[in-house]
Amino acid sequence: MWSVTVYFLIGVVSVLANDVKTIVDERNRLLKRELDMMIGSDIVLSDSEQKVNEMIMKLKINEMDFGFEHPQYFNYSKHFFEYKDEVKKSKLFKLIKQMPKGAVLHAHDTAILGPDYLLNLTYWDDLYVCFEEEDVHLLFAAETPDSACKTKWQLMRDARYSSGNVEKFDRELRQYFTIVIDNPQEVYSDINIIWTKFQKIFMTAGTMLTYMPVWEQYFYDSLKALRDDNVMYFEVRSVLPELYDLDGNVYNSVETAVAYKRALDKFMNDYPDFIGAKLIYAPLRRVDAKVIKDSIRVAREIKRKLPDFLAGFDLVGQEDLGEPIKDFLPELIEASNEIDYFFHAGETNWYGTSSDENLADAIALGTRRIGHAFAIIKHPVLMEEVKKRNIALEVNVVSNVVLKLVEDVRNHPLAFFLAQNMPVVISSDDPGLWEAEPLSHDFYVTFMGVASRHADLRMLKKLALNSLYYSTVSNKDKVIHEFDIRWTKFIDTIVKDQW
Ligand SMILES: [Zn+2]
Repeated sequence: MWSVTVYFLIGVVSVLANDVKTIVDERNRLLKRELDMMIGSDIVLSDSEQKVNEMIMKLKINEMDFGFEHPQYFNYSKHFFEYKDEVKKSKLFKLIKQMPKGAVLHAHDTAILGPDYLLNLTYWDDLYVCFEEEDVHLLFAAETPDSACKTKWQLMRDARYSSGNVEKFDRELRQYFTIVIDNPQEVYSDINIIWTKFQKIFMTAGTMLTYMPVWEQYFYDSLKALRDDNVMYFEVRSVLPELYDLDGNVYNSVETAVAYKRALDKFMNDYPDFIGAKLIYAPLRRVDAKVIKDSIRVAREIKRKLPDFLAGFDLVGQEDLGEPIKDFLPELIEASNEIDYFFHAGETNWYGTSSDENLADAIALGTRRIGHAFAIIKHPVLMEEVKKRNIALEVNVVSNVVLKLVEDVRNHPLAFFLAQNMPVVISSDDPGLWEAEPLSHDFYVTFMGVASRHADLRMLKKLALNSLYYSTVSNKDKVIHEFDIRWTKFIDTIVKDQW
């Protein structure tokens, strides 16, 4: 009797063991298939890269596992303002900052540098200021401006030093240049509120930045900040506003583009290791077809004048409140053989609306890349098409958190894009406005908060390479070769310094 029971139990155990093995094999096979599909999985790491990979994965997994055990401390499920400064102290952040990251392909010209930089500009000579209840107006002028203001215009210098407390004066002035506050969830309670504040900063700083000497200096210093963040190439979006000077001259959009080229040439002369920059002319979308027609004319003129500098055309502004691309089809189709498009599309949570369907318009118009494409995950056919047509998605994770499309970055659609090896580039949109580094924060948050726990150095390298591959940089092969040299140097430094 006993022996029958023993034989029976052995039988059960061996059947169970076989079953378990079959299931384990299958789950491993399934997961491996997914890992083999993930962005960067085609990259083979050298011995040195493997050493660096071990280092960064140790740091990443320690932090992730701690967060898993103690979710109250997991940064990336919180608002960006809560952890943006703290993470800068981490070893992994410093490593990502040092890492060559390729290009920034989606960022707006007057939002690269932060409030401290803007505050410094208010120390320039000939700046006038007028304070209203909730607003401040800034203007460079040879004499007191007579433009509308409810109180009085005075020289910034006089206002500052007659305030009795320069530190307090500067602290309060700085608030006009940033959307960072202590309680964003309370104050920025819906998307329109945050966009209103966001656009107000552009307007407040705008009259100061469009002073020609400041305009060129700001762009020069933006390029410097990008280079310091180990970015080698930049495609800048600009509305190309009119510029002015102290002599009463006003410069049109084409001349504004020429001013950018001048600043770029000066920068390239001073920093020849930078690869360069191109311009995406991106006027506001909340206009009528007549204005768009004129913008296309401007784009054509810039292209004639600066053929190597103009990358293409886009439309900007809050998509939900702006005009959809489809309203401008005749104007955009007419120029599509001459001008490349880089449309913002799908920067929305409103599924099935015209801003959501801008994605289809952009693809149909032959866009080279899509700005944000946040909503594309809800469109299986469009997902398939961008993959087939190799249209890169310019993803800006931090921007999407700050501008209220998603709260917890683990729920950002980028996680799916990375898992599916979609054509993705990581960018930063308006880093200065939320006091982020020009690109490092977006790479870091992507790596730590969005991507799989398994995503490693191969993904980081692939994202950097993608940014060059999907750019319009001239001599692309040469630039990618140059990237490889810098990458190898970076890896060797990390290995040598035993991070
Ligand atoms: Zn943008």
